[in-house]
Amino acid sequence: MDINIPDSSLPRVVIVGSGFGCIQLAKSLRGKAFEVVLLDKNNYHTFLPLLYQVATAGLEPDAIAEPVREIFNGQPHFHFRMAEVLRIEPQHNQLNTSIGSLHYDYLVLACGSQANFYRNDELTRYALPMKTVRNALALRSRLLENSERALELPDKQQQLEQVNIVIAGGGPTGVELAGAIAELRDIVLAKDYPELPLKHMKIHLIEGNSRLLKSMGEESSRKAYHFLNQMGVTVHLNVLVQSYNGTVVTLSNGDTHAAKTLFWTAGVEGVVIPGLSPVSIGKGNRYIVNEFNQVEGYINVFAIGDNALQVLRDYPQGLPGLAPPSIQQGHWLAKNLVSLRQKQPLQAFSYVNKGVMAVIGRNRAVVELPFWYTQGFMAWVLWMGVHLLLLVGFRNKASTVLNWAVNYFSYSRASRLITQFQNIPVEAVTSVSGASLPL
Ligand SMILES: Cc1cc2nc3c(=O)[nH]c(=O)nc-3n(C[C@H](O)[C@H](O)[C@H](O)COP(=O)(O)OP(=O)(O)OC[C@H]3O[C@@H](n4cnc5c(N)ncnc54)[C@H](O)[C@@H]3O)c2cc1C
Repeated sequence: MDINIPDSSLPRVVIVGSGFGCIQLAKSLRGKAFEVVLLDKNNYHTFLPLLYQVATAGLEPDAIAEPVREIFNGQPHFHFRMAEVLRIEPQHNQLNTSIGSLHYDYLVLACGSQANFYRNDELTRYALPMKTVRNALALRSRLLENSERALELPDKQQQLEQVNIVIAGGGPTGVELAGAIAELRDIVLAKDYPELPLKHMKIHLIEGNSRLLKSMGEESSRKAYHFLNQMGVTVHLNVLVQSYNGTVVTLSNGDTHAAKTLFWTAGVEGVVIPGLSPVSIGKGNRYIVNEFNQVEGYINVFAIGDNALQVLRDYPQGLPGLAPPSIQQGHWLAKNLVSLRQKQPLQAFSYVNKGVMAVIGRNRAVVELPFWYTQGFMAWVLWMGVHLLLLVGFRNKASTVLNWAVNYFSYSRASRLITQFQNIPVEAVTSVSGASLPL
């Protein structure tokens, strides 16, 4: 059965995913001679950079998510359908989705990325990723429920094992999460659970490289390490998470840490929809694209954002998995689609790096702009400003500012409802895979 889209004589661009790239692309196609159909399995766009604040009770999910229909209200020749795309049939220019099939003239894939557990069954089963709103709510519930459960345990050692946290991956997500959990421990949990020995609660951050934030400069890495140390996070460098059975994390150097919770930020891979030729899939499970974002082997199939492996002169390993490349590619692709339609030559995409930043708790951040480096309070203010600017929707901006102000001045976190019960008994698992995991 075909998805019910009103007839149109315009060529149809089908966009899969409502992430940064797609939102920009669909907006840039406004007023152009195309019918645009946007598909996503969720009916909202998620502002992933603030997901860790939902996970640590700083924000409610609706502050960082915007309904797609709200974003495109009134845009002519635009249709949104909440559907999961299951298969691409490029020979028929057709998609099979959870609600029916759909013909396209041009297809743009922007399904983002997902946690990569490197095919380790134990990690897949027990470690908690942070890629979606649901993941963030699960993390939040786990963090809070750990303390509730610990109250029922008979001795201090068992209580600590219940509340201790291990985070795998010292990239921006792991660093930001570690800082935010340390703050939650010190300013909220310690007050809420005075019977627990929370000043001894351990937060371990495990990184396989010799420094944190390896996508940033060495000074930022040093500063992030210093800030986390100040906040009572134990950082382990040059070591990998080797296995986890739900109660004990074993590292590649043989060390073990008893913890009921392992958060996984140590690897991502692209979300690939079956159907395209295997030669179009490259490193990191991403679609290999040329300088026009055309997927290898196809003229009318494109990929942007985390989904795309685009090697440019200054980026021999491919563009980084960040919001700005997705947004810029989305904007550029709209121009190229117009050119394609008008049988004009396509223009090669080039990426403008406007800087990178990471926040490590209250008053602490590191910011690298093309001609300026800063850290500490100034960087933190800058980080807040940029994230507010990028947040989609006025309501989200307003509610985030309000929440931040209340959290900052009250030394509290309002969003601490436990909505998903997590601490199901974990069977004792004795065998470990022994696989060495790149972080
Ligand atoms: C926790 C976290 C923090 C981050 N922090 C930063 C940061 O501070 N700065 C920064 O620049 N970047 C950050 N990033 C990276 C940035 O968010 C991504 O690079 C960016 O979101 C990629 O955009 P995208 O459009 O490629 O895909 P995404 O934003 O991931 O969107 C993909 C969309 O595709 C949909 N989808 C997937 N599969 C299907 C399917 N089969 N059918 C239908 N729909 C589907 C999903 O529901 C989703 O809406 C962070 C990422 C995470 C996870």
